Amino acid sequence: MSNSPKRIVIVGASLAGARAAHSARAAGHDGPLTLIGAEPHLPYDRPPLSKEFLTGDQDADSLALDPDDAYDDLDVEVMLSTHAVGLDVEARTVAIAPAAGGGAETVPFDGLVIATGAAARPLPGTEGIRGVHTLRTLDDSAAIREGLRAGARVAVVGGGFIGSEVAASAKARGCEATVIEAAPAPLMRGLGAEMGMQAGALHHQNGVDLRLGVGVDGVLGAGQVEAVGLADGSRIEADLVVVGIGVAPNTAWLEGSGLQIDNGVVCDATLCCGPPGIYAVGDVARAPNGWLAPWYGSSPIRVEHWTAAVEHGMAVGRSLVAPDEAVPYLSVPFVWSDQYDARIQIAGHPDAGDHVELLVGSVEDDPESGRAFLAGYRRDGRLSAVMALNAIRPFVRFRRLLAGHPTWEEALELAATLG
Ligand SMILES: Cc1cc2nc3c(=O)[nH]c(=O)nc-3n(C[C@H](O)[C@H](O)[C@H](O)COP(=O)(O)OP(=O)(O)OC[C@H]3O[C@@H](n4cnc5c(N)ncnc54)[C@H](O)[C@@H]3O)c2cc1C
Repeated sequence: MSNSPKRIVIVGASLAGARAAHSARAAGHDGPLTLIGAEPHLPYDRPPLSKEFLTGDQDADSLALDPDDAYDDLDVEVMLSTHAVGLDVEARTVAIAPAAGGGAETVPFDGLVIATGAAARPLPGTEGIRGVHTLRTLDDSAAIREGLRAGARVAVVGGGFIGSEVAASAKARGCEATVIEAAPAPLMRGLGAEMGMQAGALHHQNGVDLRLGVGVDGVLGAGQVEAVGLADGSRIEADLVVVGIGVAPNTAWLEGSGLQIDNGVVCDATLCCGPPGIYAVGDVARAPNGWLAPWYGSSPIRVEHWTAAVEHGMAVGRSLVAPDEAVPYLSVPFVWSDQYDARIQIAGHPDAGDHVELLVGSVEDDPESGRAFLAGYRRDGRLSAVMALNAIRPFVRFRRLLAGHPTWEEALELAATLG
C-alpha cells in the first residue's frame, strides 16, 4: 500500500462514485475521502426512475443506494449541490463551485475518481416549452410523474431503453402513449433489427401507438406543449413529451485538463486516465473491456450500464489503494430493461451485423405462459451476445457461458439442454 494516495476525491456522487468510495475504504484507505456531487441528493438508483418510481410503485426514499448514515460510517465527506468546474492535473486540484454560490474553491487530491456520468440530450428547439422533459435525474422523473395522469396524452421521442420504459410506465398510469422512433424498430441500437421488432411487438400488445421510421420536425405549443410535429407531416397531440434520444458524457469540466476526452474520458484497461492515480468510472469512462478484445482489441468503449458502473467503481477503489495490483477490466457486458410485464436482459455485445437466431422458447405469445424466449447473436462462429425476454433462468446459464467466448456449437449444445 506504499503508493496509495493520502487524500481521495471522487467527483460524481452517484452509482459509480459511491461504489468507488465503499471499495476504497474496504481496500484499506484510511485517509480523507471526499465525494463531490452536483445534485442535492445523496447517491440514488436511476433504473427505477423510468420504471417503479414513474409508475408510483416506489417512492423517492427507497431509491437511496445506501442508508443515510452510511457515509458518516465510512467517514466520507460528502459535498452535495457542488459542481466540479475544473481539473488541474499538475497541481492535483479540482476546482468546485457550490450551487449556493460563494465563488470557486479548490480541493486538493492525491487520488481522483472521475464519476460524472452522462446527461440526457435535449431535443433542440424545445427549451422553455412547458411539458417537455428529458429523464436522467430524480427531479426529472418526479416532474414527469406529476404529468402522468390517467388520460394524459404522452408522446415519447426515441424508442431506446428509456423511451420504451417511459411508454410502458405511462400506460401503467392510464395514459395514452405514442412512441416516435426514427429507426425501423425500437431498441435497434442495443438489439439490432430482428429483436428490435420483438421489442416493438411489446408496445403494440400494450396499446402504444408506435411511429417508426419517422423523425421529429418540431415540438408545437406556445408556452405549454400541444403536439409533436413529425417529418411526414403528421401531428401527435400531446400533454406531455418525454425525450429519450441518448446521453452525452459529462466532461465539460475537464476541458483544458490535458486528459483525453473523446466521447467520454479515455482510459487504459485499468480505467486510469493517464496521470497516475486519476481514474474514470461508469457512464463517463471510455475504457477497454478485456472481454471484448476478440472483436475490439484494446479499443476503448463507453457503455451506459448499471453493472459496469458498479464494477468500475469497485475496481478503481481497490486500484487507488494498491495501484501496483491494478488489474485490467474484463466483464461480460450486461444490461436489463423492464417494460410492461416483460424483462429484457442482454449479455455480451450485440452488433448490427451479427446473425440472430432463436435458441430457447418462442417469439409467439403462449396463452398460458406468455412470450418467453432467448435469442443468440453469432459473430465469427462464436456467440457474441444473447437477448432474453422473460427467460431469466436460461439467460443466467448463457451469461455464464459467454464468459468463456463459446463457439456457436457450444451455444447450440446449451440451448438443447434447456429445451
Ligand atoms: C431513467 C434511467 C433508467 C435506467 N435503467 C437502467 C436499467 O434498467 N438497466 C441498466 O443496466 N442501466 C440503467 N440505467 C443506466 C444506469 O443508471 C447508469 O449506467 C448509471 O447510473 C451510471 O452511473 P454513474 O455513476 O456512472 O453516472 P450517473 O448515475 O449519471 O451519475 C453521475 C453523477 O455525477 C454528477 N455530476 C455530473 N457532472 C458533475 C460535476 N461537474 N460535478 C459534480 N458532479 C457532477 C451528476 O449530477 C450525477 O449525479 C438507467 C439510467 C436512467 C437515467
